[in-house]
Amino acid sequence: MPPTEVAVHDPTILAQARAILDACRSGQEMQQAVLDAVQRNETWRGRQCINLLAPEAPTSPTVRALLASEIGTRAAEGHIGVVQRWFAGTKYIDEVEALCVELLKQAFNCRYADHRLMGSMLGNMAVYYALAEPGDVIMTVAQPFGGHSSNRADGPAGQRGLKIVDIPFDPVELTVDLELFRKMAPLVKPKLITLGLSMTLFPLPVREMKDVIQEWGGRLFFDGAHQAGLIAGGQFQDPLAEGADVLTGSAGKTFGGPQSGMMMWNDPALTVPLTQAVFPVLAATHQVNRVAALAVSAAEMIAFGRAFMAQIVRNAQALAAALDRRGIPILGKHKGYTATHQVIANVRQMGGGLDVAHLLARANMITNKNLLPHDAPEAWDRPSGLRLGTIEVTRLGMKEPQMDQIAEFMARVLVEKEPADSVLEDVIEFRQPYQTLYYCFDNGLPA
Ligand SMILES: *Cc1c(COP(=O)(O)O)cnc(C)c1O
Repeated sequence: MPPTEVAVHDPTILAQARAILDACRSGQEMQQAVLDAVQRNETWRGRQCINLLAPEAPTSPTVRALLASEIGTRAAEGHIGVVQRWFAGTKYIDEVEALCVELLKQAFNCRYADHRLMGSMLGNMAVYYALAEPGDVIMTVAQPFGGHSSNRADGPAGQRGLKIVDIPFDPVELTVDLELFRKMAPLVKPKLITLGLSMTLFPLPVREMKDVIQEWGGRLFFDGAHQAGLIAGGQFQDPLAEGADVLTGSAGKTFGGPQSGMMMWNDPALTVPLTQAVFPVLAATHQVNRVAALAVSAAEMIAFGRAFMAQIVRNAQALAAALDRRGIPILGKHKGYTATHQVIANVRQMGGGLDVAHLLARANMITNKNLLPHDAPEAWDRPSGLRLGTIEVTRLGMKEPQMDQIAEFMARVLVEKEPADSVLEDVIEFRQPYQTLYYCFDNGLPA
């Protein structure tokens, strides 16, 4: 008997790919199969969809071009400098990387930054490696309140052997329950607390929590994967200024850069442990093309961040209010819906987040299912919520009136139950005039 196949990836989709390759008569045809799939995505997602995924951002033409640049074929492991590198020939690479570090420091108004992490997931691992030991107790936010797996048992935090206690979270105010935290924290004396939210609507009490844990020398880590651009653009709280010891971010979310990790801090005592957690622990060749693209996106953020991020938040608030007016329940209404790029809808009555997201996708509106505070963490596959983000629509030059139109398209599908196919044509037509990216040196600000 042949051994049973074990697949984590969907076996049907893998079988389809094998069938495509089996039908090819040459390697070049196989290459063409890949190019065709990429092109289909570009035409659909890149030109015809209203992309409302909160962790996605389209990058400027310059950033895109840099991702294909020659420098990305060069090996440069180690730290910046002649002696700290393994390879010779890196003088211009050193220059690019140093520009990136200095631009990140300017963008985040901080003393130290690291540019070599491929993603925020690795940034979080670097923090857990540098600032905690296996067996230490840490406190992080659970998934139904927006917490991310990287800070939980199944991600880097758990795999580092850390004991995780939940930060108490208020399901109505959608922020930390500070009163309860003040009672709980001294009982477990966490070495580290992490504020890391993928569902993020309102500021968190960074300073107040740091004051509590400082008593036993606890550190506060702000995983700002989602909020990094808002922070750099001065449109959200500034965690480092409020007492966070380390800030990580995903450059491909609100920061509007290449998919990439970033790590920032101020305390010189953390420089050696954090930097050495990046190399030699987590990164060797670290994609210098990505570093160059990250550097340019930091320059874009310095120049355009304030205007770009302010419009992102105004658009999110406008989209939330427009959906609410049309009968789609939105979280945080009593607090003005949102202070970030995100809007969270409770779509339990409309079939739940999974079905609603796939229904909207048939009308070219791309969103994602999301756990809500009353969901059990195990319900991650069929949660009640839907998460929307306004990064891409904003960078395409859309403003408040367009948010109202998008809400109308969504309501036609979800409230008026119009067939998705009949809304599809209108969505494609609506999207047609928005094909240019703004808030970058290539195109500047939309009028
Ligand atoms: C997206 C996210 C991450 C992971 O970031 P990547 O850059 O995709 O690796 C980590 N933490 C939080 C809170 C996130 O939302």
